[in-house]
Amino acid sequence: MNHPQTFPAPSSNSFPCNECSAGMKHLRHITYFTWLGEELIMVPNFPAWICDMCGRREFDERAIAWLTMILNPNAGKPTRRPKRTPRPGPAKRNLPRPPLD
Ligand SMILES: [Zn+2]
Repeated sequence: MNHPQTFPAPSSNSFPCNECSAGMKHLRHITYFTWLGEELIMVPNFPAWICDMCGRREFDERAIAWLTMILNPNAGKPTRRPKRTPRPGPAKRNLPRPPLD
């Protein structure tokens, strides 16, 4: 998934909605729910941009990054070496040969 969402930094707390292009998105603080494994995490006062026309909400990227870091203690650690995916070997070609004796 690519994220082509590069908004110009909003100078105010609202900017035009790119979904309906009629409404304005406003910075609100809502309760954010997310699943961590099998646990439901509730984060109150989470910043989100919500459109007053279509209601589309978009969470603040930095807040998401922060939350991800909090919830995943491993996220802050130095990245592990990339896993080497073992190449599937070539199909078995060792056909039993008749003994050459
Ligand atoms: Zn909208």
